[in-house]
Amino acid sequence: MTHENRTQIVVIGGGHAGVEAAMASAQMGIFTTLVSLRREGIGQMSCNPAIGGLGKGHLVKEVDALGGVMGRAIDDTGVQFRTLNSSKGPAVRASRAQADRDLYKARVLELCQAQPNLKIVEGEAARILTEGRRVTGVGLGDGSEVLGDAVVLTTGTFLRGLMHTGQAQTQGGRHGDKASNSLSDSLSSLGFSLGRLKTGTPPRLRRSSINFSVLSEQPGETPIRPFSMMTGRIDRPQLSCWITNTTEAAHDLIRANREQSPMFNGQIQSRGPRYCPSIEDKVYRFADKSSHNIFLEPEGFESDIVYPNGISTSLPLDVQERFVRLIPGLESVEILRAGYAVEYDMVDPRALTPALETKEIEGLFLAGQINGTSGYEEAAAQGVIAGINAALKVQGKPPFIIDRGEGYIGVMIDDLITHGVDEPYRMFTSRAEYRLHLREDNAWLRLCKRGIDVGVVGEQQRIAFEKKVAQFERAKAFLTTQRVKPDLATNEWLAGFESATLKDSITLAGLLKRPEFTLKAIAERFPVDELEVETDLAEQIETELKFAGYLTRQDEEIAKLRQSESTTIPGDFAYGSVKGLSIEVREKLLKVRPYSLGQAMRIPGVTPAAISLLAVYLKRAPAGVCAVPKC
Ligand code: FAD
Repeated sequence: MTHENRTQIVVIGGGHAGVEAAMASAQMGIFTTLVSLRREGIGQMSCNPAIGGLGKGHLVKEVDALGGVMGRAIDDTGVQFRTLNSSKGPAVRASRAQADRDLYKARVLELCQAQPNLKIVEGEAARILTEGRRVTGVGLGDGSEVLGDAVVLTTGTFLRGLMHTGQAQTQGGRHGDKASNSLSDSLSSLGFSLGRLKTGTPPRLRRSSINFSVLSEQPGETPIRPFSMMTGRIDRPQLSCWITNTTEAAHDLIRANREQSPMFNGQIQSRGPRYCPSIEDKVYRFADKSSHNIFLEPEGFESDIVYPNGISTSLPLDVQERFVRLIPGLESVEILRAGYAVEYDMVDPRALTPALETKEIEGLFLAGQINGTSGYEEAAAQGVIAGINAALKVQGKPPFIIDRGEGYIGVMIDDLITHGVDEPYRMFTSRAEYRLHLREDNAWLRLCKRGIDVGVVGEQQRIAFEKKVAQFERAKAFLTTQRVKPDLATNEWLAGFESATLKDSITLAGLLKRPEFTLKAIAERFPVDELEVETDLAEQIETELKFAGYLTRQDEEIAKLRQSESTTIPGDFAYGSVKGLSIEVREKLLKVRPYSLGQAMRIPGVTPAAISLLAVYLKRAPAGVCAVPKC
């Protein structure tokens, strides 16, 4: 079958990045063709059937604010929902949900199929087509071509994918999928520098062979807090997860089989995710620990498969079988599929602009694991940005960039394009400088308007956004203007909260700043329409008012950041013409080719003195004047 075709944007890969990219550009009215190896692989979770987590929940909510699908899909198919860090401050609270793996991908496919302007083609992209330094489309494995004005590449772990279970090595992007080899060659021949990373997955267990009676149960939370601003109440029953732990005996067995572990016998050379280590890693590297937690997570409402989170491994199957049976509750467990590790090629993300367009090939965008990240959420977040920017490129409009003060998406992309990666990059709240400002609860407020302005957010979401803003502003206006007098009734009410009595009148916002007060308590005392808001909005208003001082300070810092970002550096800036720059600094700048003075400041080893020199030259020579290409 051939796919001789012309489209506007070609997205390669129907994983978490590809789906968001394709949906974003199609939502912007651009005809988009999504080329993926298998239609039924679209939206597949390769590893853990869960969305969200620390730092990752923020990304999902930001993707949702930009009209993305991940939040809606998990709300529709989640089997268990929780808020992590719920006892900690609002900046680090994070949503996480277990998914029904099959329902999740079915829902994602359904959303793609229902999207106008989006066509799905099954096929293997084998090479990137170019004319000069501009992309013109994609050549498929069957010899046909899909031509387009922009291409978004999101091939995940598939580029020269090599799977390891013990000594057995199989080519493949993940279990059941072939590797994508020729695309790596195509990228190399276009001049991209490829690196190699590794990730791994645990064995899958038969649910009915687990003895749950000896395990501790972890139920879901109610009420469920949805990920998407478009989801109403979620009332369906949730499934429990179960907690067990590794034992000394299991660790001994793993140690005794060190030579059979591809991670430690030299078979695997590439770096894996630091924060998601294999069980072999944990046993050897944290030798003082006699036990590690394992979360047994059901893969779906009807599924007999359990995902044991915490024991990713590439040991031979017989060793996997023996060590899991040394774990409480798993004494008679049946392994349905062996754990494995996969090594794959990635592209050095310093080759990208903040719009995720490659600097070398105009119109070619990269998103997801191919850029050295790990995780569905990181992939989705890049996907939506690449999709929006590919659409803007086709429309001849300026790029859509999120900066570090605006979203975790901006933090991640800036980290990737400034520092590159030498191990899979995972999002954490600690990566953000302005994390009180970048909370999950206000992602909709930070980014939805930008999504509306760029044309990626649909009409229904725009209406929901405007309604929410109106509620938010109305409640804040009421709280900041309505005053309470220091009369007996008020002071008695305050005493009920062990709150200091009033001597002078105070605004309700002033009261809400007191740690003992919630908006709910104030709304009970002042039952007015203005304070009738949903729980999530009430919490957001509380945070904004209670932390107003800190937030103002962060806003000032963000304004400074934006000042340095506003001094842009032309892509072909002649660093050689800047007298006084050391060779070392020049090399570092040439490696990254920062897009702004702000990004230049974040490159390790680029000194403040060098930045001052650059600033002087940039002021003297407006964009384009010092254009000595690639010196
Ligand atoms: P993927 O979801 O991998 O999607 C890639 C898509 O591209 C697929 O649809 C594929 O069919 C398609 N494709 C590939 N090549 C071609 C081609 N040439 N032509 C057409 N289509 C193509 N993440 C974690 O955070 N923690 C973990 O512990 C973890 N463990 C993992 C273990 C394994 C074994 C694997 C495979 C992945 C693991 N991941 C883990 C990573 C997680 O799956 C990815 O981060 C995430 O799926 C990346 O999304 P993506 O869209 O970039 O790529």
